[in-house]
Amino acid sequence: MSESSNTTSEPETIEAFARRADAWLQEAVPAVWRENRGALSGTESDAIRREWDRQLWRGGFAGIPFPREFGGQGLGLAEDVVFHILAAKAQAPDGFSRVGKTLVAPMLVRSGSEVQRERYLPPLLRGEEVWCQGFSEPDAGSDLAGVRTRARRVKDGYRLTGRKTWTTFAQHADFIFVLAVTDPAAPRYRNLSMFLVDMRAEGVVVEDIRQISGVAHFAETQFEGAFVPESDRVGGEGDGWRIAMELLSDERGGSETAARYVEIRSDVDLLLESVGDRSDLARELEELEVRTEVLRWQLGKVVDLDDRDPGEEYWRAVSTLKVQWSELWQDVTRFGVEHGLPDHRDHWRYQYLESRAVSIFSGTNEIQRNIISERILGLPR
Ligand SMILES: Cc1cc2nc3c(=O)[nH]c(=O)nc-3n(C[C@H](O)[C@H](O)[C@H](O)COP(=O)(O)OP(=O)(O)OC[C@H]3O[C@@H](n4cnc5c(N)ncnc54)[C@H](O)[C@@H]3O)c2cc1C
Repeated sequence: MSESSNTTSEPETIEAFARRADAWLQEAVPAVWRENRGALSGTESDAIRREWDRQLWRGGFAGIPFPREFGGQGLGLAEDVVFHILAAKAQAPDGFSRVGKTLVAPMLVRSGSEVQRERYLPPLLRGEEVWCQGFSEPDAGSDLAGVRTRARRVKDGYRLTGRKTWTTFAQHADFIFVLAVTDPAAPRYRNLSMFLVDMRAEGVVVEDIRQISGVAHFAETQFEGAFVPESDRVGGEGDGWRIAMELLSDERGGSETAARYVEIRSDVDLLLESVGDRSDLARELEELEVRTEVLRWQLGKVVDLDDRDPGEEYWRAVSTLKVQWSELWQDVTRFGVEHGLPDHRDHWRYQYLESRAVSIFSGTNEIQRNIISERILGLPR
């Protein structure tokens, strides 16, 4: 358990949790980050983000909805959403442990071995080991089942060969989870397995990819015969597709929407402040604001659903959120670029370019729409 989690026997109300979280955030967010973020060098900024993951653990806010028996806080989606909103408002850093906490930890609880859970969960929650995701390849993105990275059987393990791309956090990561082909002769979907790979192993090579906005949030990760022990295969051989599909559902959860809502709301507020009195823009601006508040309302409904039934209905509701917030943010930033004040040009330029990626990652919006039409609306394929 973390050093200062709530240990009273009475269950804490959501209001009490929010007060505790807000008080902690006000103290914990580094002033230099809040006030001087734009002036920090890449190294300074990375150090703060890494330390933030450790602070979250020490403060009792790491793995909020994750079960206590595995080292999490054992709370619900409501607390996680509240924390994301308060953290965004307090301008807290975005740590590097996101992939580990939201994807790797649930995967290991569902499909990992006891040895894997004991080895990987504690340092991941303490913010000491950073993870990244090795799914996409130059010729396999939406068609994830078409990955070609090959894991060949050798004595006591496998040798990995292939190239993963768009690997977020690869430059900072200690480990990567990799979907690879173990049996090229097996039918599609049954030929894949999931591996946990040390980023410092011989034969793992990382190259930055610089983005249109100038920053390098991700990289290409090349495997040149890197060795993976058999004990680091998650599940059985051929279980990779099932494990990957469960993991992608975690990726589209409600908590990210909460932080995105705060960012979009703050962009809409900036527009209202700066061009809100222009009658020629009033209608479009009003529509953006209404869509922003509808997003908040939807988020509330998803949290209620998670309380009542964290099953199929919840996942159906969640799959619409990503499409909603990503398209809204792109519309807001486009409006900002077209109509924002010249004083805010740098802000809108950066936001506009950053927002291009959000309809692509975690599965493109076209793929989300396929899922919504087939699995929610029941339309024919
Ligand atoms: C910021 C960012 C971070 C990322 N981080 C990671 C990461 O950490 N790890 C990782 O593995 N990947 C990551 N990705 C990759 C991401 O998952 C892929 O870019 C995404 O799945 C799309 O694959 P693709 O780029 O190969 O496009 P393609 O699959 O080639 O798609 C090209 C276009 O065709 C459309 N299309 C394709 N198939 C269909 C279909 N069946 N129906 C309708 N339209 C279709 C797509 O919607 C898209 O518009 C990241 C991407 C971004 C932008």
